[in-house]
Amino acid sequence: MSYLVFARKYRPQTFEQVVGQTPVVKTLQNSLKRDRVAHALLFSGVRGVGKTTLARLMAKSLNCQEGPTEVPCNECPSCVEISGGSALDLLEIDGASNRGIQEVRELKDKIKFMPTSSRYKIIIIDEVHMLTNEAFNALLKTLEEPPAHVYFIFATTELHKIPVTILSRCQRFELRRVGSEELSGHFHKLAEMEGVELSKPALSLIVREADGSVRDGLSLLDQVLSYGESPIDDNDVVEVLGLVKREVVLSIAEALLTGDRSKALSMLADAFGFGMDVKRFIADLLECFRTLLLIKIGNCEQLLQQSDEDTEQLRTLAQTHPVESIHHKLNLLMQTADDLRFSFQPRLTLETSFLSIISAGDVIGVETLLGKLDNALDSLPEQPAVKQSATSDTAKSEAATEEKKSEDVSTEELRSSPPPKLTFTLEPVDQIEEAESQSEEPIQPRRDVRKDWLEFIAFLKKEKEWMAQSLQQTVSVREDNKELLLEFDDPNDCFVLRSKENRQILTEYVLDFFQQDLNVRIISPENSNGTGVQNLDEPKRRRQQLANHQVVRMAEEIFNGRVGDIRISEPNK
Ligand SMILES: [Zn+2]
Repeated sequence: MSYLVFARKYRPQTFEQVVGQTPVVKTLQNSLKRDRVAHALLFSGVRGVGKTTLARLMAKSLNCQEGPTEVPCNECPSCVEISGGSALDLLEIDGASNRGIQEVRELKDKIKFMPTSSRYKIIIIDEVHMLTNEAFNALLKTLEEPPAHVYFIFATTELHKIPVTILSRCQRFELRRVGSEELSGHFHKLAEMEGVELSKPALSLIVREADGSVRDGLSLLDQVLSYGESPIDDNDVVEVLGLVKREVVLSIAEALLTGDRSKALSMLADAFGFGMDVKRFIADLLECFRTLLLIKIGNCEQLLQQSDEDTEQLRTLAQTHPVESIHHKLNLLMQTADDLRFSFQPRLTLETSFLSIISAGDVIGVETLLGKLDNALDSLPEQPAVKQSATSDTAKSEAATEEKKSEDVSTEELRSSPPPKLTFTLEPVDQIEEAESQSEEPIQPRRDVRKDWLEFIAFLKKEKEWMAQSLQQTVSVREDNKELLLEFDDPNDCFVLRSKENRQILTEYVLDFFQQDLNVRIISPENSNGTGVQNLDEPKRRRQQLANHQVVRMAEEIFNGRVGDIRISEPNK
């Protein structure tokens, strides 16, 4: 109730008092000055930006006894009646509750008659997009040839719902959200008029919450002023509006980025304890991440909406996280905001979403990864050394020899100039794996067939040496759909290994070592066509060799990722 009183109390009575919308106001005043006001006007824009206020001001200007004038006198009977809401020749219709064809017919009957006491009959239809198609059609004819004594003024929050036939017969004005500075100046002035001192942070909080709507801002200001004792500071605003304190929002943003689970959850619990407004809270958090993103992108200062103090704090936080991470987490938060709209348990929704956001970890940009890979390549010794641990010396040296022999693409070739252009797409490691690595209990990491192949050979050497030796001849090893695919260049290298019994033995060793039940398949030039295993064409084979290349494996280790795709293109000339 207080809000209505307040909004009514400060409703602009002159064009000068309208907050924002300068270009629209100017155009309207000019059309009045030149006596060229269209007989159908349409104001569109979000709620609370001044659509009906401008409509009433136009009505006043057109019917003022001193006019039509761009400066209505506010003293003549017509002006006074319009201000007081009792003007007979001004019809204000709510489109939402008078949307049918019958209402439009009644309206058309009314406008047949000349105005009672004023110059014009003025029809204001608010939320005009609510009219039915039939109603619009009934209105169309009148809009095509409006009687000289009638003006239509329409207002809508949903311009796109109005038929084009109607739009084309109206002079349209799009009202914008009111800027922060204009709102701030306006509310500051009103607080002064009310004799209340409003601190700067309190004012900027109200402006932020108003989100460009004068009416929403007035409602908030009204609530705050009727609650607190002057001077009013930001704590009063936080309490009245059920906001979460800035420092809490900033801390939660920080915890989500740095991956501090317990901090994120305990601060969320505190916020719930204070009876926060969930919708506002998620909006605040989104705004925080938006600011972080804008800071990272740079040169977007004019788009920032936070106070300078907050922005400084966020700047520090932004420094330590890549733009990709911030972007990714912002996307996840937007999803959360969506989920919250349908959630019966907002707290649980927020908690689970916070955990997923933290698990998402840091996303590393491809450029950064490639830069690191370049460094890894540069730091390689001239002769390829075997990167291999926990094996016996013999295994080590043999593996080195074998690996070198089996590679079509040598380290030398990778290092040579011009190098082949490689494009790697590194896929993030599974979230489960990551969750495991972050949990309290250390968990034995699962062995990877490709990464730990040499280690497996070393292990096998102790059990079955001939088999190990045979396996050293593989040109590529990969795991595919519960199968372990071993590729040999020379059928002689896998002659013995190929028998059913031996493959069964190998399967068991694989199970022992990799803890995976993989069916062993052997691919060699002789049988690669007939076994159902697809023939590996040359580029594919080359890709596999590259994927198995020690530099690539090293890259996988450095980034804790996996090679998802390799593309080989012509070397740069
Ligand atoms: Zn007047």
